[in-house]
Amino acid sequence: MLQFDTIIIGAGISGLYQLHKCRDELNLKTLVIEEGSDIGGTWYWNRYPGARCDSESHTYGYTFSKKIYKNWIWKEKYPKQNTILKYLKFVEKKLDLKKDILFNNKIISARYLERKNLWKIETNKNKVFLTKYLICAVGSLSSANIPKIKGLNAYKGKYYHTGRWPKKKVNLKDQVIAQIGTGSSGIQVAPEIAKVVKKLVIFQRTPNYSIPARNKKLTKEIINNYLKNYEKIKKLIKKTPGGHTFSFPNRSVFDFSKIERDKIFEKAWLKGSLAFRACFGDITKNLKANQKASNFIKEKILKIVKDKKIAKILTNFDHPFTSKRPTLNTNYYETFNKKNVQLVDLKTNPIIKITKKGIKTKNKDFNFDKIIFATGYDALTGPLLSLNLVGKKQIKLKDYWSKIPKSYLGLMIPKFPNLFIIQGPGSPSVLTNVPVQIEQHVEWITHCISFIELNKKRSIEASLSSAKNWSNEIKKLADASLFMKAKSSWYKGDNIPGKPKVFIPYPGGLPRYRNICNKVEKNQYKEFLIK
Ligand code: NAP
Repeated sequence: MLQFDTIIIGAGISGLYQLHKCRDELNLKTLVIEEGSDIGGTWYWNRYPGARCDSESHTYGYTFSKKIYKNWIWKEKYPKQNTILKYLKFVEKKLDLKKDILFNNKIISARYLERKNLWKIETNKNKVFLTKYLICAVGSLSSANIPKIKGLNAYKGKYYHTGRWPKKKVNLKDQVIAQIGTGSSGIQVAPEIAKVVKKLVIFQRTPNYSIPARNKKLTKEIINNYLKNYEKIKKLIKKTPGGHTFSFPNRSVFDFSKIERDKIFEKAWLKGSLAFRACFGDITKNLKANQKASNFIKEKILKIVKDKKIAKILTNFDHPFTSKRPTLNTNYYETFNKKNVQLVDLKTNPIIKITKKGIKTKNKDFNFDKIIFATGYDALTGPLLSLNLVGKKQIKLKDYWSKIPKSYLGLMIPKFPNLFIIQGPGSPSVLTNVPVQIEQHVEWITHCISFIELNKKRSIEASLSSAKNWSNEIKKLADASLFMKAKSSWYKGDNIPGKPKVFIPYPGGLPRYRNICNKVEKNQYKEFLIK
């Protein structure tokens, strides 16, 4: 049985950086195990038409190396899936990472052997490894959720999930296609496929707020400018709550007249960015202020969509703006003006079952060549639970997390020694520009392992009390936020039947979180049990 100092699960943005740190900085014998046939993580699996990032490209990547930052040119405001894959391949080559990655191996179990102080890892290809440190770099949005709709097995056509899109081109040309789901993925996929299909029927359960992305080619001047400002950008994205370049101003919605306020909203709408929510400081905090932003977006949609009935369904919001993940779009609302696009409102006309030929709703039987599920993920906890982790005293993670995903800082779990999580539940993760959070996590984990090794310790484990306090802190912050005003959201586990209904990520913002993590490190991990 091969033994390593560190095994990292996942070769996405986090796994690649963690490999570099463990192998090249700590000189640990390190292996990455990856289910896919290549690197990329999220960007390997999400190949659906229109897949693109909502973070601005010059902020979406690694900042740890000036050389890497300055030697890669982003050509568009928002990078598309394939561009991000190319970028990661460029980084991989620079750091020579592939030789330590085992592809096409899915972890089927990971068990802590108490006496040996080692993790035993098994893959679906019957490979077994031992390791002292196990680092889960499995992503927060990688467990695809295909809802258990009656009849799916009987369906004769092909169906796809956006987050598991095949490598081989999916032929959609002149076909009749169903799309279920209108979150970030659905909003991106619809306008792209509407261009080629004979008919697209979009099944919407809840309308989402979406701001125009206004993607564009970057001019030489913009490119030179961001390259020149590498240090500044690196500092700035560490200071803002979401790891983007924008922060929230002090000005309130109520400091302005409607005309003045709408001018500010209009400017942000024309610019196109997630920064729309930061037009005023109180949009994400105060329901009444939030309503003003919500009304502005609603008015815009009502103007774009020509059919009044469809426009009404698209604006029948049941949650405050930003209480669920806001999305960016390219011609999403305009797509509903096309003759070949139809919208089905699942609130009034729910799906009864999937049939051999298509979908039966309360009011109609549809035939489809293919069905696209843009139905999201078992977020944050799903990817970790799928590893079948077993900690001290044979405790299964699935049982340990049956009521709440207990962790300290989202980085470590009591009873699971030497197991680290990047982007885990209990960390800001999905509420941030992901690579910024990833770099912070990877660096914290690297320092922590270095501390254990230098002090010749056997193991580190989050204490029960620190995990309890951390859950309370998350609850307190979430309860005071607008996030809890959403009737149903994946941030709270509402989208997966049987999942604990608690707010999962840490909602206190990156700077506050980073300070806490830094203090823990400075105090030599007093909140942890070290042996
Ligand atoms: P999502 O936001 O969870 O959206 C899933 C959609 O499917 C929702 O409209 C949901 O409706 C619907 N749905 C789920 N189960 C259903 C069912 N049984 N019947 C009918 N409709 C159902 O998933 P996503 O769009 O894949 O996005 C997930 C996250 O991934 C995003 O929030 C974002 O963080 C990330 N992402 C980012 C980008 C980007 O950067 N551009 C792109 C894609 C994804 P309800 O709202 O009613 O639940």
